[in-house]
Amino acid sequence: MGGTDPDAGTGSAAGAAGDGLRVAVVGGGAVGVTAAHDLARAGADVTLFERGDLASGASGRAAGVLYDAYAEDIDAEVGARALERFRRLSGTGEFSFTDCPYVLLARDGDGDLAEAIEGAAERMRVHGRDVETLGGEELRGRFPSLRVDDVTVAAVARNAGWADPGSYVAAVADLAESAGVEIRTDSPVAVSTAPPGVAVASEAPVTRRFDAVVVAAGAHTKQVLADAGIAVPLKPYRVQALVSSREYGGPMWYDASAGAYARPHPAGLLAGDGTVPVEADPDEWDRDADDWFVEDVGGTLRERAGHDPEVDRAWAGLCTATPDGDPLLGAVADGVFVAAGWQGHGFMRAPATGEAVARQVLGESDGTPQFDPTRFDGDEAFEISEGMAVDTESDTDAGTDDRTETRN
Ligand SMILES: Cc1cc2nc3c(=O)[nH]c(=O)nc-3n(C[C@H](O)[C@H](O)[C@H](O)COP(=O)(O)OP(=O)(O)OC[C@H]3O[C@@H](n4cnc5c(N)ncnc54)[C@H](O)[C@@H]3O)c2cc1C
Repeated sequence: MGGTDPDAGTGSAAGAAGDGLRVAVVGGGAVGVTAAHDLARAGADVTLFERGDLASGASGRAAGVLYDAYAEDIDAEVGARALERFRRLSGTGEFSFTDCPYVLLARDGDGDLAEAIEGAAERMRVHGRDVETLGGEELRGRFPSLRVDDVTVAAVARNAGWADPGSYVAAVADLAESAGVEIRTDSPVAVSTAPPGVAVASEAPVTRRFDAVVVAAGAHTKQVLADAGIAVPLKPYRVQALVSSREYGGPMWYDASAGAYARPHPAGLLAGDGTVPVEADPDEWDRDADDWFVEDVGGTLRERAGHDPEVDRAWAGLCTATPDGDPLLGAVADGVFVAAGWQGHGFMRAPATGEAVARQVLGESDGTPQFDPTRFDGDEAFEISEGMAVDTESDTDAGTDDRTETRN
């Protein structure tokens, strides 16, 4: 790939805060490659270990829907920072970011949902997000491809777009290598603490010592940390997506009543959700989409967009849930950091969360208390929150812990 690093001379990448620091990053998904890249640009000596191929976890299966339309301040900030970096990276290697508005809507019959969307759009605006509220007529005028006779009000986020997640990982990994990161694929590792280190399966029992270890191992994160004696409350669960080869030129949308979303795709259209709120085994799970999902999402596409899908492929992947829906982002032991628990929003936030964990490793930030992994004991019992997009229970005051977002 090559090309100029768009992050050269910006943010933490500009300094030499990492000089002399030896860091292992576990996981070659969107978060791991971003963290590795930023750490190397700050002067650290970084090795990234990936058990399979780069992007062989959730990042290679994500839908690539991107927006900053979050109702809570910290989430909105993270989303906005991520979009800034996605845009800056666009055109590097095969990666491109395509601007596209994101419409969040619910059927009229779902009174609570429609009301919650309206309230959340207001809170997004309070946090500086470019989100407007449209009535049914305006919505129809603006997006003639959507069928919205049953919609009285919708939120439209304008700072949004889509991208191919695999090409993000490839582009950032290339930049990371150019910045000096050693990338080792087919290298599953076990993590150890006090002092931090990793043991590559093929080299066991040799443990390599590092000054810091970042665990961004997606669905395997809980297991990797548990083997190191660190308990975190994380549950992997299946979500699903499909690509239809029939043309679609409308906006991205999430139908909160149906629990399904869609976006344009080079082959036609990509649609998804199909959340299965049951803890999955990260080593043994069904990678194919379920028939019910293909049928359900097909029905929603016909109803909402007049799109009769011609299914090209349909698949499942694993997301990770936490008890409160917020990520685990920060130190869990001396020199050991975790970055996981994205509740289906890990790709769109990866440029910012990878950056955030890198800054913590460099000692440039103490992290966000709300995301501090030590807020939990690790043994909490909790339910996986479903694909339901809109929290109808939330307080309507700005700045409270309210979430209006798709959980892909
Ligand atoms: C169908 C689907 C649609 C989605 N759509 C969206 C979307 O539109 N927008 C969005 O923001 N998010 C979406 N997501 C969620 C998103 O994919 C994830 O949140 C995000 O990719 C997580 O990135 P990550 O780097 O944290 O984890 P991953 O991409 O899972 O990377 C973790 C890596 O760690 C590696 N690993 C695990 N254990 C070890 C070990 N012991 N040693 C070395 N390596 C190890 C794995 O092989 C994996 O490659 C979707 C997910 C799915 C499945």
